[in-house]
Amino acid sequence: MSFSPFAAEHLLFTPTTAAADAVPVIFAFPNEYSIGITSLGYQVIWARLAQRFDLEVSRLFTDHHEPLPTQPELVGFSVSWELDYINILGLLESLHIPLRATQRNEEHPLVFGGGPVLTANPEPFADFFDVVLLGDGETLLDDFIEAYQTVRTADRAAQLQSLAQVPGVYIPSLYHITYQDLDGPAASIQPIDPAIPAQVHKQTFRGNVLSASTVVTEKAAWENIYMVEVVRSCPEMCRFCLASYLTLPFRTASLEASLIPAIERGLTATSRLGLLGASVTQHPEFSDLLDYLNQPKYDSVRLSIASVRTNTVDQKLAETLVKHDTRSITIAIESGSERVRQIVNKKLHNDEIIQAAVNAKAGGLSALKLYGMAGVPGEEMDDLDQTIAILKAIKKAAPGLRLTLGCSTFVPKAHTPFQWVGVNRQVEKRLKYLQKQLRPQGIDFRPESYNWSVIQALISRGDRRLSTLLELVRHYGDTLGSYRRAFKELRGQLPPLEYYVHTDWPTDQILPWEHLQGPLPKATLLKHLTSATEHFAESPPTGLSNN
Ligand code: SF4
Repeated sequence: MSFSPFAAEHLLFTPTTAAADAVPVIFAFPNEYSIGITSLGYQVIWARLAQRFDLEVSRLFTDHHEPLPTQPELVGFSVSWELDYINILGLLESLHIPLRATQRNEEHPLVFGGGPVLTANPEPFADFFDVVLLGDGETLLDDFIEAYQTVRTADRAAQLQSLAQVPGVYIPSLYHITYQDLDGPAASIQPIDPAIPAQVHKQTFRGNVLSASTVVTEKAAWENIYMVEVVRSCPEMCRFCLASYLTLPFRTASLEASLIPAIERGLTATSRLGLLGASVTQHPEFSDLLDYLNQPKYDSVRLSIASVRTNTVDQKLAETLVKHDTRSITIAIESGSERVRQIVNKKLHNDEIIQAAVNAKAGGLSALKLYGMAGVPGEEMDDLDQTIAILKAIKKAAPGLRLTLGCSTFVPKAHTPFQWVGVNRQVEKRLKYLQKQLRPQGIDFRPESYNWSVIQALISRGDRRLSTLLELVRHYGDTLGSYRRAFKELRGQLPPLEYYVHTDWPTDQILPWEHLQGPLPKATLLKHLTSATEHFAESPPTGLSNN
């Protein structure tokens, strides 16, 4: 380790001096410091832990760490990227902690995890964690720590039994899963004891003060950025969208009580401001926020906005961004086809997309990035032609604006209406088709890797049988080929890749996360799926139709 990045941090909170009998905790981010410290979720949870006098917290990243306790009682991970599981396993090994919860004993700390990946579907990683925290950290984390304090001196089994009673605290080892066949779906998911809740409910924070950075540093991946969470979730409910469905209901930070005080605090430490949230411009007072930021005292502030709803891109927004040193804006259109947008419930019309481009240009922006998706359930080749057509129309309506189309592959996510739908095998070809048509038009086409999307789908719909596979993949070197090799080696012991990734799952099949309750009940998700399939050109596969 050549240097310590911790000295360069500007803290926006005061860590407490821990009490003599404080619980020694390691709080880890399973990636490099620059990435972890750019995660608002990690920053906020760390500050919460560091402000408790009953905890002595040390941070751990894959490349740097603070002085670590020799005998931690709790080791936590904030997980925001699925493929970081490799690093979780690596960090556990470096701490001499057995990888699987069942191999740990009274000598070992409790390993807990939280964050969007584990809240969506913890099952592929369930065997590696003693405790998973499902939902928003605001209240859940304190509830967990307080419950732990009450059983701190109890034996491990009693600790876990007791922690399982805290709403949102999921103890994977206390649930027994049987399968129809070794390589088939689950037959039942039951708590091992009647005292354990049959369903664990994801926890939702309902206050109007949302998160803001607790540390600013030049060593962050977004150098010196101060982040403010403007909204949480998104009211649009596009049917593939985890950022909306998993975090419902839509909540907005109060301008007076949350956003303005946070921005004032942050801008004493830096002049780079990031407005975060799944749909920032949906904030009901967004225009007032722009007026606030347009005051002369903030003229030198560099402003970044995470996500902008297409039909909120007006000239004022574009001008504000230009004034604050941003030259481009990103909008998600999903597709150029109105029918595909109806399937996904994206309430957006082609003329609004074109108008957004015209406004962006009129406001002085020089580039427009669009996000699309290939392989949306029910998509046909004709829909791709419509995406090509709208990009050509934008070029004509706003000449000179640099155009980029980033394109991902549809990946089914737990707790969304499309959780039952597999990845379309035609997507790779479709991405190539888009590329062939768009690049000669001077449109920068940037497809995301199809093969990695397949792995994302595997993890997003995975069950506990994947834990052995993930360990093997790590052993074989964490390449795309190592997943195939591991599936081959485990043939007969778990379903094939095909089942997890490409197969449409019957809607009456027990899902791997059946015992974990998200914001909406399964019946509502099914209704939303049915509304989507009504726009399909052909009838949906049998298992997906009304059950
Ligand atoms: S508008 Fe964006 S953030 Fe909102 S639901 Fe749709 S895809 Fe998700």
